[in-house]
Amino acid sequence: MTFTSFMDHALTEAQAAADRGEVPVGAVIVDAAGAIVAAAGNRTRELNDPTAHAEVLAIRAACAALGQERLTGYDLYVTLEPCPMCAAAISNARIRRLYYGASDPKTGGVEQGARVFSHPQCHHAPEVYEGINARPSEEMLRRFFAEKRQ
Ligand SMILES: [Zn+2]
Repeated sequence: MTFTSFMDHALTEAQAAADRGEVPVGAVIVDAAGAIVAAAGNRTRELNDPTAHAEVLAIRAACAALGQERLTGYDLYVTLEPCPMCAAAISNARIRRLYYGASDPKTGGVEQGARVFSHPQCHHAPEVYEGINARPSEEMLRRFFAEKRQ
């Protein structure tokens, strides 16, 4: 089977988030057959909700669409390393594979910080593939925060 990356789609969601004035992070959830079941970008400002990260919104949308509380066998693509909150949500959702783009030394919780998936309390860890299309994600984030500082 050939590997099809859905990171381009996640990057489109990230750009849409930036256009709304949100931190540019995008996420896509794909089923085992390679069909997109949910896509989302950050909406913390729009929704006045600090939990409205792209991953959380995508997981909520996928579960709502499928009418189930878990996403066993589904894969999640996100443009930035998930924070500890999102990593815990990914674990609770039983996501099969996590593909992410840029590393996040500030708030990432997968390869650094809380390292949620390697914690003994973590009951389900997805397979993790990092650095997928990291460059465009990093550039989008850099641009966004550079413009904010002006
Ligand atoms: Zn998060």
